[in-house]
This record gives sequence, structure tokens and C-alpha cells, in this order.
Amino acid sequence: MKILVLNSGSSSIKYSLFEMDDLLVLASGFIEKIGEARSIHKYCLTDSYGEIKKMADTQPVSDHRQGLASIIQLMQKSGMINHASELSAIGHRVVHGGEKFHQPVMIDQAVLMEIKKMIPLAPLHNPANLMGIQETLKFSGGIPQIAVFDTAFHQSMPAYAFLYAIPKQFYEQKHIRRYGFHGTSHHYVAKQAAKFLNQPLHSLNLITLHLGNGGSVTAIKQGKSVDTSMGMTPLEGLIMGTRSGDIDPAIPFYLNQNYGMSSEEINAMLNKKSGLKGICGENDMRTIHAMADAGDKDALLAIDMYCYRIKKYIGAYCAVLGKVDALVFTGGIGENDGQMRKTICDDLSLFGLSIDLHKNAMASTKTIDIKDKNSTLSILVIPTDEELEIAMQTMICVEKSNISQ
Ligand code: ADP
Repeated sequence: MKILVLNSGSSSIKYSLFEMDDLLVLASGFIEKIGEARSIHKYCLTDSYGEIKKMADTQPVSDHRQGLASIIQLMQKSGMINHASELSAIGHRVVHGGEKFHQPVMIDQAVLMEIKKMIPLAPLHNPANLMGIQETLKFSGGIPQIAVFDTAFHQSMPAYAFLYAIPKQFYEQKHIRRYGFHGTSHHYVAKQAAKFLNQPLHSLNLITLHLGNGGSVTAIKQGKSVDTSMGMTPLEGLIMGTRSGDIDPAIPFYLNQNYGMSSEEINAMLNKKSGLKGICGENDMRTIHAMADAGDKDALLAIDMYCYRIKKYIGAYCAVLGKVDALVFTGGIGENDGQMRKTICDDLSLFGLSIDLHKNAMASTKTIDIKDKNSTLSILVIPTDEELEIAMQTMICVEKSNISQ
């Protein structure tokens, strides 16, 4: 069973082709700068010996339709499929599913309308996701298309966690509430944690930290998300590469009233110029470490602020969950940056957390437990794989629909 996973951005398409029988990635790639004179298509192909070949192409890709056609062509040329109809399903990442979607769904006209309705809540992402789906529908004939939502995993949050304490009609009429994001990643690593700990997910309480360019933390009780740091948009919560995370909500009014900043300027400032970049001028953690090692005070401050915010959330979510079985690190920083993991876990022995410095310093591409013998909970480092999770969810959705037919 071959499943293609597509993640369509406004000027990019990320894709992976999976052979689901052995969960093998046959091809994966990224087309960026769509619509520009020099679009870049980077891709990896796995040959029949399991060898991975990396390649790049810089031919112009005028729009998503052409981008999708070149992905299909590539798969045909490399012998992975003879025709698009050999795909068993196509799974699409959709950022915002609002309150409507608790799980992946087979795409039809009604689903497309709902994704469209959600555009005001995710103006940067949903239009691009929608365009990717619509273009795919044009060439894919009867191949089942499944939408997998970033927000779906968090739909289990109780009202006292997802509501903001503003007049209730803003929720009832304008849908203002916490939705949470990175759900596919939090769900995937939670399932991997359950596998590693050899316990059913529904018996586990976890705190999952997805630390990449964007970052979020989720409290998982008996396998279900009960709170998460991102809110109505991905701006709330942790300090991120370029996003501020939590701030006093009065700051935008202050800037508007006293400095005449427009809502667009404030929006851009909070989303694109804040976070680590706002503090030390850089948003890539590896660069920030290099600056800190050279004594740059702002880089040191950015690292301290970043870890401090995460510690506050871990403390809060320990209180929310009562009992925690494991803290899980994932995402580019969570998976690779032992120094940050150590700083985050330092002084958290109150919550039973204690890290083994030797294990923490080891690089691993597989799940590892870096707790020491004094830790009362596991501290897991788990590589996330959002594409594989989308492929698996897609397969389950197709199988369910076949059974119900
Ligand atoms: P995205 O949210 O774009 O998917 P990633 O999960 O790839 O982001 O994470 C990007 C972040 O991970 C960057 O800040 C990058 O510096 C950091 N990162 C990646 N590899 C390492 C590493 N080996 N050590 C420290 N940080 C790393």
C-alpha cells in the first residue's frame, strides 16, 4: 500500500511517499520558492537496496499544479509507481481543523467548505493547505484524499483548559478559544513513548515538548491531550525561534496607543521578529550556542529565557497531571540539543526529574531514556515523524471507510 503525504505551504510543497507494508519512505522532498524564477526541488530517493540518494533540481515551478505534476513524474521516472492511480491514498496536512475535526477525515466538498471556513483562524496556513488539496483533486481521480489536522489531537481538552476568560460570546460567536497545534507530532511521540515504555497509551500521563523553530508543550492524561501551550494561534506559549510566546495581552494596545504601531506591524513583530531572534538577533539554536560560547551576553540571555519558560510549563503541567510517567523531548532542539535538555531539567528534582549526563550527551536517532537512577519518571528523547504519523492516520481512515462501506 503506497501513501503520498503532502504538506502544502503558500510557496512550497513538502512530500513523502511511503510503502506502508514495511513503513519505508520511498521518496521525500521539498519544493520551495514556487512561483519564483529559481524554484528549488530537493529530494531523496530510496533504491531497492535501501540506499538513499539525495538530489536537487532548480527548474522553475510556476504554481502548485506544476509542483504536484513534477512530484508524480519523479515517482514515475524512478519506478516507484507507474501511474498516480497506484497510490492507495493521499494524506494532506491541514493546520487548522477548528472544533469540527477531532480526527482525520476523507475529503469531500463538505470538508473543503469547513477547511475554508477555518481560514480566518489560520490565514497563513489553511489557504495554502486548501490550494494543495484542490490541485491534487484535479489529477488524482478516485484516489482517496484524507485531511489530517494539526489541531485534532487537542480536541480532547476540557472547556476549563481551552476557554479564555473573556466574555463567553467571543467563544460562542467568534470561536475564540485555545485550539493548540503540533498535534500530529505530540500524538506520534506519545504513541512512541507508550511503545518504548511497553504500556498502553491510555494508561500514561506524559508531558511532551516539541522544540523546533516553533515550539509547544502538551499535557497528556491517560493518552489524551488535556492542555497545550499554543492557543488560538501558534503564537502563544513557549519562546520560539521568532515568536514571542506568552506576553501580557495589554502590550499590543500600549504599542498602538503610545507608539502608533498598526496591528499589522505588531503582528509581524510578535510573529517574525520576537522570540530568540528578538532577544539575540538569531533564531537558529546552533548559531545561538556558538554565540553564547563566544561570550555573547544576549545569546546567553536568550538561552536562559527559553529554558526558564519551558521549566514554568513543566511545573504547571506536573500540577495539571498529578502523576507524570514521562517527559518527552522532540523536535530539532529537543532531539539534538543535550545542553538545552540539561538546562531545562536542572533543579526539577522537586518533580522527580533527574537526568543522566552521559546518556543525555549521546546522539541517537532512536528513542532513548536519559533519566538517571534517582529519577521517578522517564525522560525520553524521541525523534518525531509527522509525515509518518499522517501516513498512518491516512491508512487508518481509508481502512475504516472501506469497512463502513
Ligand atoms: P521546524 O519547526 O522548522 O520543523 P526543527 O524541528 O527542524 O524546526 O528545529 C529547528 C531547530 O532545531 C533550530 O533552532 C536548529 O538550530 C535546532 N537544531 C537542529 N539540530 C540541532 C543540533 N544538532 N543541536 C542544536 N540545535 C539543533
